Amino acid sequence: MATQTKDYYSTLGVKRGATSEEIRKAFRKLARKYHPDVNPNDKRAEEKFKEISEANDVLSDAKKRKIYDQVGFYSDNIDPAAAEAAARGGYGGGFGGGFAGGGYPGGARAGGQEVPFDFGGFDFSDFQSSGGHGRGGAQEQAGGGFGGSFKDIFGGMFSGGHKAARGPRPGTDLEYQVSVDFWSAVRGGVARLEIQRQEVCPACKGKSTTGGGSECAECHGTGQVTQMGGRMKFNIQCPRCGGTGKLQSGCPTCNGEGVVVRHEPLEFRIKAGTRDGQRIRLAGKGNAGTDGGAAGDLYLIVKVGTHPVFTRVADDIHVTVPVTMTEAALGAKIDVPTIDTHIDGTHEGGGRTQLKIPPGTQTGQKLRLREKGVPSAAHEGMRGDEIVEVRIVVPRVQDERSKEILRELAKLNPEDPRAELLGEV
Ligand SMILES: [Zn+2]
Ligand SMILES: [Zn+2]
Repeated sequence: MATQTKDYYSTLGVKRGATSEEIRKAFRKLARKYHPDVNPNDKRAEEKFKEISEANDVLSDAKKRKIYDQVGFYSDNIDPAAAEAAARGGYGGGFGGGFAGGGYPGGARAGGQEVPFDFGGFDFSDFQSSGGHGRGGAQEQAGGGFGGSFKDIFGGMFSGGHKAARGPRPGTDLEYQVSVDFWSAVRGGVARLEIQRQEVCPACKGKSTTGGGSECAECHGTGQVTQMGGRMKFNIQCPRCGGTGKLQSGCPTCNGEGVVVRHEPLEFRIKAGTRDGQRIRLAGKGNAGTDGGAAGDLYLIVKVGTHPVFTRVADDIHVTVPVTMTEAALGAKIDVPTIDTHIDGTHEGGGRTQLKIPPGTQTGQKLRLREKGVPSAAHEGMRGDEIVEVRIVVPRVQDERSKEILRELAKLNPEDPRAELLGEV
């Protein structure tokens, strides 16, 4: 059986008394350095990243860290009260010198005393080998003097049974931004894009293994490894094989991931009235799960294109239309562009409709064309409005006759448009 002692503090390069902030900082610094994205195809960096992640997982969690500090390693199976008891030591005066208080990794001092004692998950045998590899068999001599009390104290330390190393895991969701042109968003259409998603590995059907199995090198098939807790040794479930004693050989097609990355062309319907920023959910189109886990969802974030003439605000269409000074002054019926198809069918884009400009219309004034906007994607049969902003075009008169008429007009209408403004100053 192998003895695993991991010094998480030195892995992260921090002192034992490090604050959680120092631990967080140290981890972030190392994670940036060893992250697989930064070191593609670098096995050593990958291993290092796993190590620092494990160390951070334990040290960044106050409860886990306490247990680790007390017994020198961490396992979910350890009951905090039992760890506390182990750290306090003091049990079994006749127990070959008792226990080391600190319980840090590597703290297995070569005591020299042989403690022939073994029950359940505990193994105090082979005490003299200092932190190295223990002997295979425990020396099964029931230690008459302390059996009961130890069992009481440590009984809850390790739960029996083993967790499966793997199990069904759901796939993650995917999110893609998809550009949709102005007209497809208004009238509906089909959008296409290529997505990259994880699919269930066709070779192992998502099981990650090709079946069969070899003896676990960590525990040599026993399913248990020895951990040092202060000067005590504990037999715990082998973390590598999950206590099964066997290692499944990883599927070569997916490198044991259970999924493979595929590029997939995707075609989907854009509903008429789709808005910019809208999220479309395609259930089950995300990354595949492994070992029978459900697939994630695919979210498409719609980015609607613009139009040179029409500006869309939710379901309303805004358009600025120039009118002459005369049209504005006298009133007129003018043609304005709309998003509706042109009547003669020759027009690819929008059509037109008549708008009545009331006499005395001012520049910047907004006129509403009811239900000439975008059909609502949410409410069947409803449409937004078209809002026409009037922009008055002043004539650039050149000839004397026109100038004369305008001067005449000014004389007949001597109002000062700035009177109110100046009066307020
Ligand atoms: Zn596979
Ligand atoms: Zn194992």
